[in-house]
Amino acid sequence: MATPIGNLDDLSPRAQHVLSHADRVLAEDTRVARRLLQSFGATTYLDIYNDHNGAKVRPGLIEMLRNGAALALTSDAGTPLISDPGYKLVDAARQAGVAVHAVPGPSAVITALSVAGLPSDRFLFAGFLPPKSAARRTVLQEFALIQATLVFYETANRLQAVLADMALVLGGRQAAVARELTKMFEEVRRGSLPELVDHYHEAGQPKGEIVLVIGPPDSQDAVDDTDLDDLLREHLSRLRTRDAVDAVVAETGLPRRDVYRRALALGSSGGTS
Ligand code: SAM
Repeated sequence: MATPIGNLDDLSPRAQHVLSHADRVLAEDTRVARRLLQSFGATTYLDIYNDHNGAKVRPGLIEMLRNGAALALTSDAGTPLISDPGYKLVDAARQAGVAVHAVPGPSAVITALSVAGLPSDRFLFAGFLPPKSAARRTVLQEFALIQATLVFYETANRLQAVLADMALVLGGRQAAVARELTKMFEEVRRGSLPELVDHYHEAGQPKGEIVLVIGPPDSQDAVDDTDLDDLLREHLSRLRTRDAVDAVVAETGLPRRDVYRRALALGSSGGTS
């Protein structure tokens, strides 16, 4: 069951009906869910279901479902299973032959895409990036060749470091920092990745919850990239990365930073093997 990512009174009548009539509401944090239920006068019994107790309580919950109980799974905000617990419970319920229904509502990933003004026909949602820069860059390199808008969840205290890594690995793509969506201090800041790096360098760390939407590599780049990739692969097959990059820079006159970024992306996607 999807719960509001912003205001409590956004909860749909259908969601209110289901939460009021379930035998039990499963919540990551019962205090958060209680406030939600109280906002429309529901007194449904609440139980905790989260990553810490999921394995332990799942068999009992499945037994309840088999016996005909109706359970409603919620998350603290947005849609369960989207960077939140739940898929193992849904999987177990399905395997037990129990019907699972969604009560659709907001999710930060879709809300951010709706307001970012970046291509939304093809997107890859990748949840949270690793907290450490080296691991983060490796993951970003895997995504660098994907012809799609990329969407990430992020925390405010990591925003500057993450944008810097993105600018390094993904270059000058258009991006949006979508903050506090549907809440009082909602803000969507658009710019190229280097522009966003500069902005937050000057403005400092923002507050609140954040979704990062990164536009796809533009199609002209994609054509050029294909040629560049071929050239790089040829050199990487016999040279060390640094020497291969030097050779390609000399041949093409392209900026070293861009060529190096492609070489790293090819390396991490197995392009040099
Ligand atoms: N299940 C939720 C959903 O469907 O969006 C996401 C839960 S995840 C643990 C929490 C992350 O979602 C936050 O760190 C932030 O990246 C994003 N998020 C949630 N609410 C948001 C909001 N109102 N504005 C921007 N980002 C939000």
